[in-house]
Amino acid sequence: MRAAILDGYVDEPSCLGVPPYLAPYPRYVYGMLKSLKVQPEYLTIDQLREDPRIRSKLKGYDILIIIGGIAVPGKYIGGNPLEKNEIFSLNLAKKNILAGPLVVELTKKELELLKDVNIQPLNFPFEKELFDLLCRILNCKANFDVDKFSYLGAEVVKQHPDFPNVICEIETYRGCYWGRCSFCIERFQGFWMRDAENVVKEISLLYENGVRYFRLGRQTDFYTYLADFSKEVPKPNPESIKNFHRAIWEKCPKIKTLHLDNVNPKTIAEYPEEAQEITKTIVLYQTPGNVAAMGLESADEKVIEKNSLCADVEDVLKAIELINRYGAGTGYNGLPYFLPGINFVIGLRGESKETFEKNIEFLRYLMEKNLLVRRINLRQVKIFPNTPMEKVGYSILKKHKNYFKYFKKVVREEIDHEMLKKVVPKNRKLTDLRVEISGEISYARQLATYPLLVGIIGKYEKNSFIDARVVDYGYRSLTAVKIPLDPNKATFEELRAIFGEKAKEILLNRPYRDLGSIKEIVGNEAEQFFEHSSEYDSNVNKKN
Ligand code: SF4
Repeated sequence: MRAAILDGYVDEPSCLGVPPYLAPYPRYVYGMLKSLKVQPEYLTIDQLREDPRIRSKLKGYDILIIIGGIAVPGKYIGGNPLEKNEIFSLNLAKKNILAGPLVVELTKKELELLKDVNIQPLNFPFEKELFDLLCRILNCKANFDVDKFSYLGAEVVKQHPDFPNVICEIETYRGCYWGRCSFCIERFQGFWMRDAENVVKEISLLYENGVRYFRLGRQTDFYTYLADFSKEVPKPNPESIKNFHRAIWEKCPKIKTLHLDNVNPKTIAEYPEEAQEITKTIVLYQTPGNVAAMGLESADEKVIEKNSLCADVEDVLKAIELINRYGAGTGYNGLPYFLPGINFVIGLRGESKETFEKNIEFLRYLMEKNLLVRRINLRQVKIFPNTPMEKVGYSILKKHKNYFKYFKKVVREEIDHEMLKKVVPKNRKLTDLRVEISGEISYARQLATYPLLVGIIGKYEKNSFIDARVVDYGYRSLTAVKIPLDPNKATFEELRAIFGEKAKEILLNRPYRDLGSIKEIVGNEAEQFFEHSSEYDSNVNKKN
């Protein structure tokens, strides 16, 4: 049997699979097929769009499993997710299966239409249904074992177009202990938790296959992994979390990135002592640049109540303070070790003009108290069938379009920009920036959670890794200059970005033989940008 997995990428409240991320789903499906003695092929939707030969090739396949769905849309530069209207033309193999959160988004009519074009949609979550279906097709009996699938699926990373620059999203548990927020699709996930041993085994197999970047991102609250779920708010287990991290490093000593995603502020507010221990473990055992993405969703108590939101303003403030206390120091890659990130959702029940004022007030308070936040995510609600927000639809969002515009402007201009300057001060050295877009300005990011976009002055090869120093700020991005520079070769644009008017003088005094003569022009700042060599290339023509 010839089978292929088409990765249309996912982005859910607790799972990311847009490149350079690789979500657990394609890895599990690959492992599932292998466990049934089928050797699948892995492709991405971008590869399919770019190369028409792939379409013809897939026509000879028996099964095509399409995975996709963007439940919480963001801006992506690593790949373009599968669009809803694209699915209907993906009936390429003899049997075509659609899986992932995209299915939740489809109307009854669209689901019928899919069947008419020979694409079978699976319920969400889909793993068990897919496994049973495959067993029926292959006429075999086998055990459903997600951990086993994850082990067998580890080797698929080598087929990813970005390999080895891939971040594997790791699943520790699925579902949410709260699960009641009016807009959220986590209510459909059910609940299951993986043993730490099994998660570590999967990470070590991915590591053996060449992966060095990991995010423990597939859970709704990292602080409640391995927690006591017999309580209404699960009680965190700091000791087990520490042992889990130790075991990861023991097996995988050369990991370059180990980050997490999703923290429920309610857990931190409810169990401050346990949360403090876990925060220390995260700072110590995970890598710098880490972000605890937390849902405040709204600072308006009316909205909180009407949408059954889990945490209130006080909870979120407690969580932000705790994480700042231990995580705000600067790490070796130039970013703070561990900072909170906050999500707002716009268009919820009970929202009014006052809601936006309260949201702004909350953010101004953070600025005033010098509390750092790595990112502020303003999300417009996305409506899914069978959620409490279905009845409301987009009516509030439409009505408050102008309020949202104003809110966004204030956040970007007054908060984001200033916050970025605090989080990454001018001249800060950022390491291991991977160039993703090459041009007169090359765009690069660290392989990390919520990576900052850095525009590096000059043309650098795609996929090259660069160290650079920050010279300027956008609202949510940075401008930087590659370091170290050769003073006899640096371009006027680079010099101007660092030294402003003095750039001309530096050019006119070329060539340089040592750092001392440049320091005479620009002072000690030269130390941070130029090579400390006395063997600069002094053959460069002065007129250059
Ligand atoms: S706390 Fe609410 S928004 Fe967050 S995952 Fe749970 S249900 Fe979804």
